[in-house]
Amino acid sequence: MPRENPHRPFIPNPEQMALAPEVTGNAINGLGEAEHRRPSVVYWATNPDDIPHGRMQKWFYTVDPGSPEFGEERAKRMEISQAPLPPVAPTPTQRNPEDWTRQLDQFIANGLCEKVGVAAMNPDWVYEGGKVSETRVIIAGVQHDYDRIATAPKPEAGAEVMVQYTRASLVAKRIAAWLQEDGWAAKPVTGPMATSFTMIPAAIEAGFGELGKHGSIINPEFGASFRLSAVLTDAPFAPTPRKDHGIDAFCAACRICEDACPPYAILPEKQTVRGDEKWYVDFDKCLPFFNEHQGCGICIAVCPWSRPGVGLNLAAKLARKASREG
Ligand code: SF4
Ligand code: SF4
Repeated sequence: MPRENPHRPFIPNPEQMALAPEVTGNAINGLGEAEHRRPSVVYWATNPDDIPHGRMQKWFYTVDPGSPEFGEERAKRMEISQAPLPPVAPTPTQRNPEDWTRQLDQFIANGLCEKVGVAAMNPDWVYEGGKVSETRVIIAGVQHDYDRIATAPKPEAGAEVMVQYTRASLVAKRIAAWLQEDGWAAKPVTGPMATSFTMIPAAIEAGFGELGKHGSIINPEFGASFRLSAVLTDAPFAPTPRKDHGIDAFCAACRICEDACPPYAILPEKQTVRGDEKWYVDFDKCLPFFNEHQGCGICIAVCPWSRPGVGLNLAAKLARKASREG
């Protein structure tokens, strides 16, 4: 029997729902479309007036989170994003691809992030109408403080997300600065308003983990409790390998996040989305709750992989089972 959900029934605020556009977010995302196409920006547009859900995006900012941390973190992130990068040095440093990738570990060692990876850029990740010419995408992951994210959907969890977006933006900026000083042009890309390309498939390709039923990546070490940022460059980094831990099959047999999601947004079965079969969160059900709670995060917090110390044991157990089954 699933545990009783303290946030159900959820009745969306009518003032917010009056701002919903005619087109659904699921249609923009390509739910049910068998043909392959590039993604379209559905939310967190740099300019909300550019997207159908822009009025809902603006409404998000009218909700008082009741914590000064939100404003403070937004201000810090703005300062980081506006700080200039050093100029590109005239002579590009030459390293072999594996050395380039190994050098990224310095950003973990100095505490700026908890994970790094590299993928060869795939044009299918670029948003419709966008353009990315760089050949490599470096992904950095920053872990949430689990005790804070476990308070979701209270404002403390949303504030923790803001803190980690600030860290994510700082590490992307530092990686880009390092590359430019080494003679390679680099563009930092930071969420949530990362509107040049979609980061989740790039991070999966770079070995960050697998897509969970709740629509976030699950990594054995950090669960789903982390944020991403990226750097685009032509510096010849060796891609880091994609990794399979058996999480996809685990999700098929688990429904903790489905039961915990107040608006029933997490779909129990994989869906066809722009030609691919994958786990999918109903955007139009999630968004009103997300907006009213300044970020929600319940699905990330309840996922068993997110609990400290649990994910690595689960991954080891799944690996033993897979090897027994040949
Ligand atoms: S809670 Fe369960 S079903 Fe949901 S993402 Fe985590 S492991 Fe998968
Ligand atoms: S973030 Fe969205 S999908 Fe996740 S629990 Fe909250 S409402 Fe549900």
